Amino acid sequence: MQPVFRFAPSPNGYLHLGHAYSALTDYSLCQAAGGRFLLRIEDIDGIRCRPEYEAAIYEDLAWLGLTWEIPVRRQSEHMAEYAAALARLTAMGLIYPAFLSRAEIATAADGRDPDGAPLYPATDRGLSPAAGDARIASGAPYALRLQMDRAIAAAGPTTWREGNDVIAADPAAWGDVIIARKETPTSYHLSVVVDDAAQGVTHVVRGRDLYHATSVHVLLQRLLGLPSPVYDHHRLILDANGRKLSKSDRDTSLRSLREAGKTPSDVRAMVGL
Ligand code: GLU
Repeated sequence: MQPVFRFAPSPNGYLHLGHAYSALTDYSLCQAAGGRFLLRIEDIDGIRCRPEYEAAIYEDLAWLGLTWEIPVRRQSEHMAEYAAALARLTAMGLIYPAFLSRAEIATAADGRDPDGAPLYPATDRGLSPAAGDARIASGAPYALRLQMDRAIAAAGPTTWREGNDVIAADPAAWGDVIIARKETPTSYHLSVVVDDAAQGVTHVVRGRDLYHATSVHVLLQRLLGLPSPVYDHHRLILDANGRKLSKSDRDTSLRSLREAGKTPSDVRAMVGL
């Protein structure tokens, strides 16, 4: 079977040197494996994602020398597929509506997830379905969360392949993660898992910042009966202060480097390739 790789940026800002490193690493691993290279636009956040950023993604990646298969998959066009996966998890009794505000979560949390966010307390778990429905009908804001202990019990122990290593997943570290929101029937975790399977992705190459999220992804793959790709989480490109680059940081954007006269080979050298 021919390997399938994908690069999956979000069009909520201009691509920077960190994306260039990720895309170029991904692309060269794909070529070395004789794989197909896909581009996916992760635009479920209708407020932060903009068409001009999507257009810039195509422009910047083509400038770097990448080619990809057409048509490109846009997450915003696949909401029905995410809703179907959500319905499956709901039917398994693994999803509940959670009503606490950010401030309430911060006060009641015991512990933090691998990204440093407060863990969702057990407060809403005991709510009866009727009480949950009544609060939703009253217009209260909510998120749909995975009841992690039940999900782990249903899935059993999970692992993933990181290169040649087998890693034991630790989804419990994330607590009751958000699977969908009131306004959007999905989340990053749910759509990435549905899409990788729908696109037949066999190799996920992405930054180390998403290493721990893989625990949630393999758990969802197991619950939904989807295959797990092989993962490769690469080093991150850091700024002079040792911090991860950010899309709001204009001077490392590929577009400003290009405007300043840099070439694609300058960019490769800047990220150590
Ligand atoms: N859309 C995510 C990002 O831009 C990447 C998701 C992934 O590669 O799994 O950070």
